[in-house]
Amino acid sequence: MTKYICSICNKTYPIQETRWKCECGGLLDLEKSTGNSQIDHWTSHPSIWRYASSMDAGDDLTGWPSITLGEGQTPLLVLDEDRPNTFVKVEYMMPTLSFKDRGAAVLVTLAKKLSAKKMIADSSGNAGTAIAAYSARAGIECDVYVSADTSPKKLAQIQAHGANVKAIKGTREDVAAAAHLAVEEEQVFYASHVYNPYFYEGTKTYAFEIFEQLKKAPDTLIVPVGNGTLVLGVYYGFKELLEAKKIDRLPKIVAIQAENCAPLAKAFENQELVAKPVKNRGTLAEGIAIAAPARSKQILEAIRATEGTIITFGEEAIAEARSKLAAKGFYVEITSAINYAGYLEYSESKDEAVIIPLCGAGIKSN
Ligand SMILES: *Cc1c(COP(=O)(O)O)cnc(C)c1O
Ligand SMILES: [Zn+2]
Repeated sequence: MTKYICSICNKTYPIQETRWKCECGGLLDLEKSTGNSQIDHWTSHPSIWRYASSMDAGDDLTGWPSITLGEGQTPLLVLDEDRPNTFVKVEYMMPTLSFKDRGAAVLVTLAKKLSAKKMIADSSGNAGTAIAAYSARAGIECDVYVSADTSPKKLAQIQAHGANVKAIKGTREDVAAAAHLAVEEEQVFYASHVYNPYFYEGTKTYAFEIFEQLKKAPDTLIVPVGNGTLVLGVYYGFKELLEAKKIDRLPKIVAIQAENCAPLAKAFENQELVAKPVKNRGTLAEGIAIAAPARSKQILEAIRATEGTIITFGEEAIAEARSKLAAKGFYVEITSAINYAGYLEYSESKDEAVIIPLCGAGIKSN
């Protein structure tokens, strides 16, 4: 059986419904069972589940057929004919219209296996939406803690699935604290995209799909970063491909933050190992405005390991990039426009293979 392992003191724990951090306060990862990802056992299923053999703790996840909503296998498209090596990965073509479905499908499959009756999530929007949909599919009660100023469209989406919205006035950190308190009091499953390492087994599939679609590793991955669910997922995925000798080097991760809430960019620039919390000064990119990312150490390590970087953008660049993408036929939520802003600033040569994720659908935000 797979176990949780503390990222600080290495203590291990059985996978249990109410366990979400170490007694020492450390974040939990999954103890690697084999060390070699079973890449040669991928199937032809048209979803993230074709990669089930490469998910750590796959034996806890065999219940996926009753939970899946068809997540994954999103299109990889050339954005402009005159730049044939620049691709967009259309992650908004997902059951709940964002890439968070990759992780939520895996997390809720685990909750079902553990016979959870109720789960609690906290989110700035899309993770809550995804957890709400999959918990409905699984027949598990769900409370989603959100900031009181989350986009009304995302709140409507969460409520449509029958989840209870708990709107908290205050910062994103206040929302998380309210959720942690409720999890402790109610002793229920914490469906956290930040703390629960199973979520990353889902976001890993983003890397596997790109590898299959391009038939090689790209040179550069533009990746937005708040709590780092996509950064860590792509890093783990490509690292496994490298270890299995399917690719010969890691693609560079160029991570993107909003200038008005950029703790990771600041730590990267100052060559610090852990990000210090910042004050969120407010940004259109609400989905990545995380002032105190819990996994900052792992995120910074991942970006450095790929010889990548972190760049930031102001509000004007974000708004402009959204219009430019829409003018090409791609309607993304405002948070996601920052990825294209990142590409426009970063793009170095026409020959370089670059992937820009379109993480959330346009109708999710104003
Ligand atoms: C969740 C999300 C991101 C990435 O955020 P992380 O917190 O780093 O996982 C980016 N864009 C959108 C639209 C999102 O929903
Ligand atoms: Zn510990």
